[in-house]
Amino acid sequence: MNNQNLFEMVKQHLCSCSTDLTLSPNVEAILKMPMRELHVSLPIRMDDGSIRAFQGFRVQYNDALGPTKGGIRYHPQETIDTIRGLASLMTWKCALHKLPLGGAKGGVICNPKEMSTGELERLSRAYIQSIYHIIGPDRDIPAPDVYTDARTMVWMMDEYSKMIQKTTFGVITGKPVSLGGSEGRLDATAMGGWFILREAASDNSLGLSGARVAIQGFGNVGSHAARIGKELFGCKSVAVSDSQGGIVSDQGLNITELLAYKEKTGTVKDFPRARNISNRDLLELDVDILIPAALENVITLANADQVKAKIVAEFANGPVDNEADALLYKHNILVIPDFLCNGGGVIVSYFEMVQNANLDHWEEREVYRRLEEKMVDAYRTVKDLASRNNVPMRQAAYSIAVERVVQAMRLRGWV
Ligand code: NAD
Repeated sequence: MNNQNLFEMVKQHLCSCSTDLTLSPNVEAILKMPMRELHVSLPIRMDDGSIRAFQGFRVQYNDALGPTKGGIRYHPQETIDTIRGLASLMTWKCALHKLPLGGAKGGVICNPKEMSTGELERLSRAYIQSIYHIIGPDRDIPAPDVYTDARTMVWMMDEYSKMIQKTTFGVITGKPVSLGGSEGRLDATAMGGWFILREAASDNSLGLSGARVAIQGFGNVGSHAARIGKELFGCKSVAVSDSQGGIVSDQGLNITELLAYKEKTGTVKDFPRARNISNRDLLELDVDILIPAALENVITLANADQVKAKIVAEFANGPVDNEADALLYKHNILVIPDFLCNGGGVIVSYFEMVQNANLDHWEEREVYRRLEEKMVDAYRTVKDLASRNNVPMRQAAYSIAVERVVQAMRLRGWV
């Protein structure tokens, strides 16, 4: 999954902002280390009667600002360093968006595409049995991420509730609306990203109506990004891809038909009235906006020179590696950093926690109104600092987020 180490990438970004903030070496050392991590072995009975042991992790990176929060990934190439990097990113994301939460992430090394529903359910329940003592509504609250979804979250919430003998919706977010989920959670990451793109496009005199967009990844984030871009902003999604390959159409893809096609065939490949392309080709298309919405490290020195988009909006976590990031900045391509751009997911997860704690349910328009307010506020704060200091948005975003976490650590007497 990752050719460059995501954790090392995040640590390098922390170094670049530590000069802006004049952090002491001791404080910097704390910020570069996860506070706590748990490695678990999960023996699962497979459908054929055999037993297979899966490896899982939960990393709680920093809880200075509040209980930790972060998704759970199922992926065959999962590594502890990717999870550490993602948990670190969650810490800066929650701080940047002014949420009273710290950062965490979890993962299990498995290939969900080759597992039955029963095997996935047993794995999800076993994972929660192994980590239940370090999670909880006031401790650490997981959520969906790559190859996990609302159904996975319900199994996990149910298992936790059985273990502590109390139905506890607040232990996990991303649940279905009928079981304590929030309206708007499903497309929150994509919706939040588009609120930011709208601001960035306007600041850069790019009209969104008819703007050409290419999206890598057609899962939760990517498919909603394609739909919202067209429905709310009049953009034209000319290319999308998934793990099996991509498609392009100069006239723009019909996203409603494409969603139905992907549902039926399991991939976007061979979609009628479109041409097949590789994932690499997609990243190099002549478009206005490029949205990586799959995995990390897809834009590197090997292809950064070929990126033609005016704006790269990181809906995925860590899609642009550090060397490519510097090159894109030099080429005047605006990169909107992941933990600013994709914060909509954790923001609406936080709204879900608030609703669960108050036995409340907000209308969809109320969720979107609050989401928009938070996304635009974070964008403006980052943009102002980046312009004032003449630095990339990523560096400004790290400076703001890290300063908030360090201030909380100081107030709590940790440093
Ligand atoms: P998902 O599992 O729903 O979808 C992942 C998509 O990526 C799938 O379409 C898959 O086919 C595609 N993919 C996998 N490998 C690929 C490859 N090598 N090339 C191209 N496409 C590939 O996951 P998601 O929830 O949409 O997450 C996507 C990204 O967004 C991840 O980086 C995730 O960490 C990040 N993110 C997700 C959320 C959320 O709320 N789900 C929030 C913030 C950030």
